[in-house]
Amino acid sequence: MARHLGMCAGVQRALDITERALQECNGTTLYVYNEIVHNNFIINKLKQKNVKFVHSVDEIPCGAVTVFSAHGVSRKVEEAAKAKQLRIFDATCLLVKKNHRAVEEASAQNKPVIFIGKKTHPECIGTVERVPDRYCFVVENQDDIAELPDCDKEIISVTQTTLAISDAEKIKAALNLKYPCIKHSDGICFATDERQRAVMALAKECDIILVAGSAASSNSCRLVQIAEESGCRAYLVDSIEDAEKIDFSEVKCVGITAGASTPQSQIDGLIDFVSLK
Ligand code: SF4
Repeated sequence: MARHLGMCAGVQRALDITERALQECNGTTLYVYNEIVHNNFIINKLKQKNVKFVHSVDEIPCGAVTVFSAHGVSRKVEEAAKAKQLRIFDATCLLVKKNHRAVEEASAQNKPVIFIGKKTHPECIGTVERVPDRYCFVVENQDDIAELPDCDKEIISVTQTTLAISDAEKIKAALNLKYPCIKHSDGICFATDERQRAVMALAKECDIILVAGSAASSNSCRLVQIAEESGCRAYLVDSIEDAEKIDFSEVKCVGITAGASTPQSQIDGLIDFVSLK
């Protein structure tokens, strides 16, 4: 087992907030803007409790009880929710909010912002929409840097909380060459950091690593990537059916880890499966 694995404090907090919001609903539909956390096991359980996941405020009736997911939302969404008098339970992780504050402060000082992260991820969308378009650029990989305009004033960079540390460091080094006045704000959260370091250590001892988590979970996918970069065969396992497809012949030592949104019951299921092999 990895030294650090599974559900982080931010995800646990988001689920606690959702439970409180469900009590407030008293049997009526609870609306959640985006997936509360990126885990199919959790999403399916909540759907059975009359939770509806939406991607637009237009899908929510006026005054309905609504949860903002752990990944956070943009100012535009906050304002649209206010206009519809939604009863908001905000489950945005406090570490995502820290990034929101960093970009808003930079924007207030007219400093351009570079967000290092995945363009389509809800955390990226919710963060960059807080800054006027002309001041904000998203960098997903080193190729994107060539497209950025020249700038000789101070620029702030903010990193998506769940990025791979090594990817972020390479992008930051390339940005330093292009913008000598750039300042990097720490964005990768402690939970992501400790799980990534733990899987690197685990990869040294195992023939194969199984990462319990869903494909939409950025931090779970990064754990697979890091295990592979550390020289170990690795698989994302969202269900026992996924695990059954893996070839375990000649495997002596199996490592198990899990993304920050993976519940303990899913990890336990995977441990039981491996123990029977
Ligand atoms: Fe918060 Fe990090 Fe957990 Fe995301 S992975 S919910 S940023 S603690």
